[in-house]
Amino acid sequence: MKGKTENVCVIGGGIIGACTAYFLNQAGKNVTVVEQSKFGAACSAGNCGYISPSHVLPIAVPGVVGQAMKSMMSRKSPFYIKPRFDLSLWKWLYKFWRRCNRRDMLQSARVKHELLQSSFQLYKQMIEDENLACEWEHRGLLFVYQDTDHFEEFSQTNEMLNAEFGVAARKLPSRDLVEFEPAIKPEIAGAWLFECDAHLRSDRLLDSMKKLLEDRGVRVLEDTAFQSFVPEGNSRAHRAVAINTSQGEIDADYFVLATGALTPRFAHEVGCHIPIQPGKGYSITMPRPSLCPQTPMIFEQHRVAITPFQSGYRIGSTMELAGYDESINRERLDLLRESAEIYLHQPYCDPVESEWFGWRPLTYDDVPIIDQTPRYKNAYVAAGHGMLGLSMGMVTGKLVKEMICGESTHIDRKLVSFSRLK
Ligand SMILES: Cc1cc2nc3c(=O)[nH]c(=O)nc-3n(C[C@H](O)[C@H](O)[C@H](O)COP(=O)(O)OP(=O)(O)OC[C@H]3O[C@@H](n4cnc5c(N)ncnc54)[C@H](O)[C@@H]3O)c2cc1C
Repeated sequence: MKGKTENVCVIGGGIIGACTAYFLNQAGKNVTVVEQSKFGAACSAGNCGYISPSHVLPIAVPGVVGQAMKSMMSRKSPFYIKPRFDLSLWKWLYKFWRRCNRRDMLQSARVKHELLQSSFQLYKQMIEDENLACEWEHRGLLFVYQDTDHFEEFSQTNEMLNAEFGVAARKLPSRDLVEFEPAIKPEIAGAWLFECDAHLRSDRLLDSMKKLLEDRGVRVLEDTAFQSFVPEGNSRAHRAVAINTSQGEIDADYFVLATGALTPRFAHEVGCHIPIQPGKGYSITMPRPSLCPQTPMIFEQHRVAITPFQSGYRIGSTMELAGYDESINRERLDLLRESAEIYLHQPYCDPVESEWFGWRPLTYDDVPIIDQTPRYKNAYVAAGHGMLGLSMGMVTGKLVKEMICGESTHIDRKLVSFSRLK
C-alpha cells in the first residue's frame, strides 16, 4: 500500500466519530464519515457539555445498588430500570453489581483518569489551534448539596480523589457559595468546586467540527446507514474491503465503528458480544435566566446538572435503563425543572428551545471499548463512553489514529480492549 493514500471509513457522526475523523485526517488519511441520520444529532447533541477531568469515579461504586433501589421507590427518582426480560440487560446488571467494590472502583477510575487528563489537554489544543466556535469556558464545576450531612460527607470522597488522583475540590460552605455564585439560594448547605473542569456547547462543537472536517476534505455522508461489512474474498476472511450501507457499497482500507449506544446491534458483524446498554437521559435548553449561574453545577442529591452557555442555558440528567425507548417522558422533564427550583433563584426561563433525550452508551465498568474487532483486523470499535463521551472524545480519536497508523498508543491499549471485559 506504500505511496497510496489510505481510505478510512468512520461509521457514526457523533463526538467519537468526529474526533476520530479529525485525527485521521491530520494523519493524512482519506476519511469518509457515514452517518445514518444527521451529523452530531444523537447523544452528542443535547448533553450537558462538561469536559470533566473531575469525573474519575465510575458509576459502580460501593453502595450504589442499594441507593438506586431505594431511590427507585420514589416516583421522582432520577434513576429508573424498566422491568422486562432482557438477558443482555440482566447480564450487564450482574457484572455491574460485581464491580461495586473499592478495588474495581479504583481500577476503573485509574483508566478514566488517564483518558480524561489526556482528552482535556487535547481539547484545549484543538480549540485553540483551530479557533473552533463552541463556547469553551474553563470555569470549573460545582457539586452542590442541599443538606449539610451530604455536603460534609463528600469531604471523604474529596480526600480520596486528592490522594489517589490529585483531583481535589475547594469547599464552599453556604455563605461563601452564595458570594461565589449569587444565583444559588442561601438555604443551600454548600458546594465543592472542581476548578479543573471546563464546559462547552456540544451542539455548536459538532457543527464547527463538521465544517472544519469538510473544509479539510473529509466526506460526510448523512442519511447513510451502515448495514454490514463486506469481507475480502470469502466470508471467513480477516479483512473487510467495504461496507454495505443504505446508499450502496463504500470501499475503504480501514473501518471504525463509532455508533454509540447502537453498537451492540453489530455484535455479529464484529464477531463478539458488545456489553453496552443505552442509558437514557434528558435535557431542556432555553435562554439564560436574568440571574444566570456563572459556573456549571450538579445538584448531587437530585442528580440534575445545569450548564450556563454563552448563548443559552441547559438543565439535564436522569438515567433510565429502558432499552431503545424513544418516547419523551414528561415526568422526567418536570423532575429536571423541580430539582432546579430547590437550588436556584431563577431555575429556568421561557421559551423552551428544545426538549431532548439521548442514549448514553454504558459499559458496566464505565470504561470505553477502543479496540480492533475480533473478526476483522482492519476494523475497530470506538464506543461505550457512557456519561463522559464528550469529555473522552479527543483521547479516543487520538487512540484510534495511533492504532490504525501502527504507532505505539499514548495510553496502554489493553486498558480499553475487548479482552478486559471477559
Ligand atoms: C443527558 C446527558 C448529559 C450528558 N452530559 C455529558 C457531559 O456533560 N459530558 C460528557 O462528557 N458526556 C456527557 N454525556 C454523555 C455523552 O453525550 C455521550 O457519551 C456521547 O455523546 C457518546 O458519543 P458517541 O459519538 O459515542 O455517540 P452518539 O453521539 O450517539 O453518536 C453515534 C452516531 O452513530 C450513528 N449511527 C448509529 N448506527 C448507525 C449506522 N448503522 N450507520 C450509520 N450511523 C449510525 C448515530 O446516528 C449517531 O449519530 C451526556 C449524556 C446525556 C444523555
